[in-house]
Amino acid sequence: MQVPLLDLKSQYAKIKKDILAAIGEVLDSQICIGGPKVKEIEDKIEAISNCKFAVGVSSGTDALLASLMGLGIGSGDEVITTTFTFFATAGCIARVGAKPVFVDIDPKTYNINPSLIQKAITKKTKAIIPVHLYGQMAEMDPIMDIAKKHNLFVIEDAAQSISSTYKGKKAGGIGTCGCFSFFPSKNLGGIGDGGMVVTNDEKLAAKMKVMRDHGQNPTYYYNFVGGNFRLDPIQAAALLVKLPYLDEWSKGRRKNAEYYNKKFAGTAVKTPYINPDCETVYNQYVIRSPQRDKLMEHLKQNGIGCAIYYPMPLHMQKCFEYLSYTKGDFPESEKAANEVLAIPVYPELTDEMKDCVVDAIVSFLK
Ligand SMILES: *Cc1c(COP(=O)(O)O)cnc(C)c1O
Repeated sequence: MQVPLLDLKSQYAKIKKDILAAIGEVLDSQICIGGPKVKEIEDKIEAISNCKFAVGVSSGTDALLASLMGLGIGSGDEVITTTFTFFATAGCIARVGAKPVFVDIDPKTYNINPSLIQKAITKKTKAIIPVHLYGQMAEMDPIMDIAKKHNLFVIEDAAQSISSTYKGKKAGGIGTCGCFSFFPSKNLGGIGDGGMVVTNDEKLAAKMKVMRDHGQNPTYYYNFVGGNFRLDPIQAAALLVKLPYLDEWSKGRRKNAEYYNKKFAGTAVKTPYINPDCETVYNQYVIRSPQRDKLMEHLKQNGIGCAIYYPMPLHMQKCFEYLSYTKGDFPESEKAANEVLAIPVYPELTDEMKDCVVDAIVSFLK
């Protein structure tokens, strides 16, 4: 039996008619930039994040970029983040001319270890970007305490964790602002690229809206240098069709995770640790094994999709050589990069498919 890591066709089959109708509406209106669909999805994401403002942008990457630009972070500034994340988190810091300052993870949750942040702070530090990895939020209370103490902005990278909670609070709604990605493999995926920033800071929201449109305000007058990173109305239309299913899909992912947890209990498989303060949305279900590479090979041979998020921490990437980090600087991240493996957890999985995944893993690790 073939079990892919993610099967978007099974999701699409159920909503195809509505998606096509929604795209048709945008085309019929010929409002191809901005317009009512963008406003409507902004209003809805704002509401589910318990935030007052939302700014639709062209990707999760651009959500991070707009946040940094909106907060005026640039040359001479430092921004603290985790080394164990998708590239965009740190790429955006470098792109605005600031210096990424990396911190190691808590090996249980794979999220930034709050107790290591303090010693990374200097006079140049302007912000912290915690990443809510795999669908589980970082420990926001200690992070917000440190940020308040040192007067730092907090940009939540919630690309993998829309609608996830920490102590009952929604991802993206705790920091200065929160960034979502609508990349198709995220829990709320568009039919192409898309992203959004949510915030309770009215001035920041207004500035980001200007930034996504070249810094233009009013038309053909520019007080800042922005870019073209607006959310496409066709993406907004597709997202509006998908949003009502988000909770059901997240529940489906959690149910699949529980199924795996039960089946893996008492075996050699190391299952994900979920902080009791968090409700995860399992963008990924990540197991851990010192024999990861061989296990991965075995699964692939057996037709089971799996992937490594992420095989090399960012402090070891060639493009960040100039930051002068070396191997061994962040041991927990380096170890995780060698041991983590994401297996299929998408909501449409059947019990038969999950059993197939479990059998292949358990038989190999025995
Ligand atoms: C996906 C992702 C991004 C970037 O989002 P895009 O929409 O692909 O640009 C940023 N950070 C994290 C943690 C992500 O998973």
